[in-house]
Amino acid sequence: MTNKTLINRDLQTIWHPCTQMKDHESLPLIPIKRGDGVWLEDFQSRRYLDAISSWWVNIFGHCNPRINQRIKQQLDTLEHVILAGFSHEPAIELAERLVQITPEKLKRCFFADNGSSAVEVALKMSFHYWHNKGQKKKTRFVNLSNSYHGETLGALAAGDVALYKDTYAPLLMEMITVPSPDCYKRKEGVSCEQHSRIMFAHMREVLEQQHEEICAVIIEPLVQCAGNMRMYDPVYLTLLRAACDEFDVHLIVDEIAAGFGRTGTLFACEQAGISPDLMCLSKGLTGGYLPLSVTLSTDEIYQAFYDDYENLTAFLHSHSFTGNPLGCSAALATLDIFAEDRIIENNKILAQKMQTSTAILSDHPHVAEIRQTGMILAIEMVKNKNTKEAYPWQQRRGLKVYQHALDNQVLLRPLGNVIYFMPPYVITEDEIELMAKVAIEGIEIATGK
Ligand code: PMP
Repeated sequence: MTNKTLINRDLQTIWHPCTQMKDHESLPLIPIKRGDGVWLEDFQSRRYLDAISSWWVNIFGHCNPRINQRIKQQLDTLEHVILAGFSHEPAIELAERLVQITPEKLKRCFFADNGSSAVEVALKMSFHYWHNKGQKKKTRFVNLSNSYHGETLGALAAGDVALYKDTYAPLLMEMITVPSPDCYKRKEGVSCEQHSRIMFAHMREVLEQQHEEICAVIIEPLVQCAGNMRMYDPVYLTLLRAACDEFDVHLIVDEIAAGFGRTGTLFACEQAGISPDLMCLSKGLTGGYLPLSVTLSTDEIYQAFYDDYENLTAFLHSHSFTGNPLGCSAALATLDIFAEDRIIENNKILAQKMQTSTAILSDHPHVAEIRQTGMILAIEMVKNKNTKEAYPWQQRRGLKVYQHALDNQVLLRPLGNVIYFMPPYVITEDEIELMAKVAIEGIEIATGK
């Protein structure tokens, strides 16, 4: 089997996600033969360091022996079973452990099979809670500008990235959108914390004025990942938690991308010392192995659905593969690795290395900002460093970085003009150096004439 034969076959039948398929007339599609740790290998024995964890899912490397072993064991025991009326050990153990390690008020796990579905569940649960409580006026949701929560219609509506959303606008529920605390936009001399506090005024005003019609605020904690890795200070979450309590509005925290150590703590919420009413997890939940997600809720929310059947208050939402045992087993192996190894502590060293190996770019005439939250580091390429004027998107400069990186053993996947690293935690310091060196060269090439 060669790259070429597989590419030809692929392009006959597969419609790839998030891709203008015509690009593949000039851009190489890369069939991967095997994975090992941070490395992917194609059919010509070319290797690629997976600097973006295959869309932010992988945390302990490809083909991790401990996760593999657990899945193999489960496979010979029970591959799948309906989770309505039936249950199984991996789901039970996983739910128990998630309740233990997530913020204290979260007591119940509702499983689904991908991030967008977990968001749909959270939105429906929040609305339905208020409905069951007789608060029929509560029908709306608040989000942040530049936020992202997935691609199914409800999750797409909950986000605010124009590139993905605008075409479908006529199909989507209308949100109340509040300006993001995005610290890239802070004025000179203003700290990120001050900026986040200042921006909170917009949120407070909306909650104060419209809380009677609002079910929940949905938010990505600390990092707006798909929104070009824009970051903000934890104080915003602390203020938001207090205001949601004050105005009787749920707080939905979408930790799908931020969870499982990405931001430097197991969950980003911890940095703000808050406990949301609903929390969505996916991606790293299974170590990036299998599609699984969970929406955790408080007992207060759960109890509002618990009643005699005739009262029709139950949450009648389902997906066929809800709580799949193989996915749950991968998740249990992932939690074991967090429990047994010093992952969060070790990541501090890796995060520091990511910072020092890119620091040289801070003086680059076309780099407006290098920002970092834990294991996520992003570099913003601009046309004009002083005014932060962006390069026109049509120039696709990020794509030049992508191509240079592929030619030099690294898989980067810039978001527009933002180059970022979100690697698996098994990356070594030498591999971080390679990743940074290639990114720096790519930025030189992309920002040249
Ligand atoms: N929420 C956030 C914050 C995400 O980053 C993503 C995926 N990038 C999703 C939701 C959607 O998850 P999925 O792609 O599994 O539907």
